[in-house]
Amino acid sequence: MHSARLLLIAFLTVTASVAQPLLAPMVEDAPVVPEAERLENVEGKSIVVVTPHPDDEHFSMAATLSMLAKNGNTIQIIVLTNDNKGSKDLEMTRERLARIRRAEEEAATRACGIPVENLTWLGYEDGDLEYADPRVLRGEIARLLKKFRPDIVFCPDPGATWVQWHKTDHRMGANITQDAFIAAQWHLYYPQHLLDEKLAPYAVPLVYYYYSQAPNYEVDITDLFDKKVEAVAAHVSQFEPSNSKYTPDMPVETRKQLYDGLKAASMSDDRIVERFRRQENP
Ligand SMILES: [Zn+2]
Repeated sequence: MHSARLLLIAFLTVTASVAQPLLAPMVEDAPVVPEAERLENVEGKSIVVVTPHPDDEHFSMAATLSMLAKNGNTIQIIVLTNDNKGSKDLEMTRERLARIRRAEEEAATRACGIPVENLTWLGYEDGDLEYADPRVLRGEIARLLKKFRPDIVFCPDPGATWVQWHKTDHRMGANITQDAFIAAQWHLYYPQHLLDEKLAPYAVPLVYYYYSQAPNYEVDITDLFDKKVEAVAAHVSQFEPSNSKYTPDMPVETRKQLYDGLKAASMSDDRIVERFRRQENP
């Protein structure tokens, strides 16, 4: 999450940070979703996840991802940036960090039961997504939506009737994906997709926004929490001591802090949950 470590730091109250909160309160008028349509019962669907950094999807929804993969859904993950700047190691280079972050993302993806071939890397530089050409970026995401034709998309929440604060890369990731939903519906936005690649327009029918400040949907992940910890822990370089002096191994103590911090940040009464804002026809 550029950096996920900030989130853990927030858990551990070491410092105030710009981490995205994991668990905003549920809205009071959350709609009741029919049992058959609930994520727990979704099978055999095409699902696309858009993540600003290689790790945001694991912090926000690794357990839900594991559940969806186990239930036979095909999950494609679009990774917008290479997350190659969030290291305090003064001997680290951007190139090396990009390689490390990619390997960690692949390990976490495998931990969720998703093949690494389903990762699509757009390769933008960490922290620079706001400075990318928005027309190009929107087109890249719209093209992938036409290609994968997802029944469900997961992405950061741009807000509905309100504007949600987001840190850099998350802000652009949220807004540009929302714009791509529109662009993907109309062939004249990017006519080359149809003309050159026979990719027909596509309207995404259902979105679950993560990092939402107004969640209206909750998945009980109590029984899946170990899977979530496994996926998040794969992002070793986001946590100390590896963030300050890179090592591929996570000390037992760090793992324990991660487990406790993630659990504390995900508790609702006596259950562990992941929350989303569910929106049809985004
Ligand atoms: Zn991020």
